[in-house]
Amino acid sequence: MTLTAVEEVRAAILTSCAPLPSAELLLVDALGCVAAAAVTADADVPAWANTAMDGYAVRAEDTTDAPVELEVVAVLAAGAAPDPARPVGPGQAVRIMTGAPMPPGADSVVIVEWTSPVHGGRVRVDVPVAPGQNVREPGSDVRAGQEVVSPGTLLTPALLGLMASVGRDTVEVHRRPRVGVLSTGDELVEPPAELRTGQIYDSNRPLLLGLVIEAGCTPVDLGCARDDRGAIAAALESGLDRCDAVLLSGGVSIGDFDFVKDVFGRLGAARSWDVAMKPGKPLAWGLLRGRPVFGLPGNPVSAAVSFEVFARPALRLLAGHPEPVPPTVAAVAGEDFGRRPDGKVHLVRARATREGPDGRLHVRSAGGQGSHMLAALAAGNALVVVPDGSGVSAGETVQVVLLAGAPG
Ligand code: AMP
Ligand code: MG
Repeated sequence: MTLTAVEEVRAAILTSCAPLPSAELLLVDALGCVAAAAVTADADVPAWANTAMDGYAVRAEDTTDAPVELEVVAVLAAGAAPDPARPVGPGQAVRIMTGAPMPPGADSVVIVEWTSPVHGGRVRVDVPVAPGQNVREPGSDVRAGQEVVSPGTLLTPALLGLMASVGRDTVEVHRRPRVGVLSTGDELVEPPAELRTGQIYDSNRPLLLGLVIEAGCTPVDLGCARDDRGAIAAALESGLDRCDAVLLSGGVSIGDFDFVKDVFGRLGAARSWDVAMKPGKPLAWGLLRGRPVFGLPGNPVSAAVSFEVFARPALRLLAGHPEPVPPTVAAVAGEDFGRRPDGKVHLVRARATREGPDGRLHVRSAGGQGSHMLAALAAGNALVVVPDGSGVSAGETVQVVLLAGAPG
């Protein structure tokens, strides 16, 4: 089989994926989801003028000759409503707490630190204030009719707070993808069982379930299937019943017991490629019962890298993300990334750090690059994109895929 470029494979996958239908979620359940509809403020925020500070609501003109003494006629806590029939008159002040509505007649607030109480229900104001000082005007945060969230926006904690501030308790988002993870392989055993000769622990499942969670999706553990067409098909079908997408690992290359491609082909429209990248050459993919299904390579590092390059963008697309493929960032090669031309792009596990007075990102190899070597993946936080050719020399600029734990 000839090698196919990463971009070509990714484009084939992404063109057959579409954002999931929308659902209305409680705000706190929508963190990390993508808004499917605009959210507009019905009213000004704040709804009425209120004080930004604890102090005294006054008529600014009464303080021009400060220090002056004013008569304290009322106390207003946050949550209290001022009496519209009793405006603050000349020579008067209202003791007021942060967030309380401005009483009628007052136009400014003297902060408590600039006052001293005087016997007999009076207060001395030590400094003059200007009209509007320490007052939050209606609509100074959000205006009535203003769009606070536009469709396609990734919801952050601050946006959840903003939506609550305009009176929303729910938000229309693209459904969070439910993503099944299935391991395949007769040699796989679950920790802490003891290994017999030939057996290894199933590390792909926690790795991929972790990546699914990190990508903002809901993980579904589909367990581990033996290298048997029937067993793989049964586990996959049960995943398709419950999930929006399924990630399998193992069984996608050309070994005698690699049945994943067969199973995909039996269940629907399936394709497979030898991708021009290292690690992660074999990839199977299908749109089975309308759901994207990935047959990732078995080697743990290949599975993780293939997830980053193909599955993460597809999951972001399902989630309605406006930019499915996370952008790479530029970094300085902190050492030589030597290689030989082989028709593939190499994705080298690396550690990215910010260095020097300008804090530029520098990358250095994180250790052994064998595709079974999880330790270097775990020690790293980035993949350096080393294009086909003779490599990259220290000091040159490289593109980097940032992984969990990369500096911001
Ligand atoms: P395969 O693609 O099934 O031939 O697997 C390639 C390599 O990855 C073999 O060495 C497998 O033992 C290993 N492998 C497959 N699945 C897993 C898994 N879930 N966890 C750890 N290693 C795996
Ligand atoms: Mg296998």
